[in-house]
Amino acid sequence: MKPKLAIHGGTPLITREVPRYNSIGREEAERVSEVMESGLLSGFLGAWSEDFFGGPFVRDFESRAADYFGVKHVLSVNSWTSGLIAGLGAIGINPGDEVIVSPFTMAASATAILHWGALPVFADVDRSDYCIDPTSVESLIGPHTRAIVAVDIFGHPSQSEQLMALAKKRNLRVFTDSAQAPGAKVGTQFAGTLTDLGGYSLNHHKHINTGEGGLVVTNDDEIAENVALIRNHAEAVVGGMGKRDIKNMVGYNFRMGEIEAAIGLAQLTKLSRAVFSRQQMASILTAELEKLSGIQVPKIRPGYTHSFYIYPMTLDPKSTGVKRDKIVAALRAEGVPGLIEGYANIHLLPIFQKKIAFGDEGFPWSLYPDRVANGYLKGIVPVAEDLFENGFLGLLMCMYDFTESDMSDIAEAFSKVWANLETLQ
Ligand SMILES: *Cc1c(COP(=O)(O)O)cnc(C)c1O
Repeated sequence: MKPKLAIHGGTPLITREVPRYNSIGREEAERVSEVMESGLLSGFLGAWSEDFFGGPFVRDFESRAADYFGVKHVLSVNSWTSGLIAGLGAIGINPGDEVIVSPFTMAASATAILHWGALPVFADVDRSDYCIDPTSVESLIGPHTRAIVAVDIFGHPSQSEQLMALAKKRNLRVFTDSAQAPGAKVGTQFAGTLTDLGGYSLNHHKHINTGEGGLVVTNDDEIAENVALIRNHAEAVVGGMGKRDIKNMVGYNFRMGEIEAAIGLAQLTKLSRAVFSRQQMASILTAELEKLSGIQVPKIRPGYTHSFYIYPMTLDPKSTGVKRDKIVAALRAEGVPGLIEGYANIHLLPIFQKKIAFGDEGFPWSLYPDRVANGYLKGIVPVAEDLFENGFLGLLMCMYDFTESDMSDIAEAFSKVWANLETLQ
């Protein structure tokens, strides 16, 4: 007889508590105590001088990260949201420019565009890797398009080669939001380093973290200079340094402190292990889930690697005969931790539906009534919407310290639920 599902009163498969992932240890504490002993918690000065580029830990962290990621410039920031804002300013975004972005991402990928008075245009995603679909991007490029923000969602790098080819043809910039993909690769190159600029989040639920923080990466000298300026009160500095083009030189304070940089130095040495471990855990799960019908396991493009911030799956309700919420409830009852349904459709957030961002007159949209031709209506990105409403299911790999036996048990819970699908109908 088949074991009864826990949701129907059977015994749950997983009863132990899976520990939360925590990569902070003695190494970080030791580096932080060096900062404390130095007495200098931030070395930044918002004026054109040696100290404009930050203190010794910040600079050491940036230079080691540049070596690690194989990129010319790394600029640390106090969050990746700050990095997105600084990066978009640095590539010369104008108010009213259209910037093409994925709707299947965290909201900051799109709101950073609004901070420069520019207009997000949502392109659809590809069902196989959940990243922006270059064909959809191409169909949305118009006279006002200035840039593409590609998001390496869940840890799968987006198709940078195709996007860069489109950008070259149409004179656009490509910015990669690799918040979730530090350590993932395309060929031998790290995600985030294959476009005009990119970067990573260092917030507490990402692969490596400094509590809050981020890194902007670029091989372009001018972009790097602009990011450094926007990060640190640009308008007060450009005069001193003699910079002639002062467009977008409206500064913020996006500076990282020495304590965070010291933690980052220790964390950087743990990145490859963290990513490798998640890849191992993911492959255990994939080997089992592949045997079930009506579930798409992660598809990784040839030559690409995945960092598995989230282990992404797509359910096919036509094949399983059961709606996603019932399957998820059954899996949760079996004790599977860290499941998320749907993820995000940010074009449907009130900010876009009501077109109210800054002030109460609908800025920036109200000034450019001829722009964003595809609007923000439901239906503009059918794949992303179907994933959100029906298909997408993720396992939060970065939230837990999963072991091989956790993975086998989670796989077993899926098999148990699949063996009883008809009882969930
Ligand atoms: C985490 C994340 C961000 C924001 O990073 P913060 O460091 O939290 O500001 C942006 N984009 C994506 C895709 C993210 O996952």
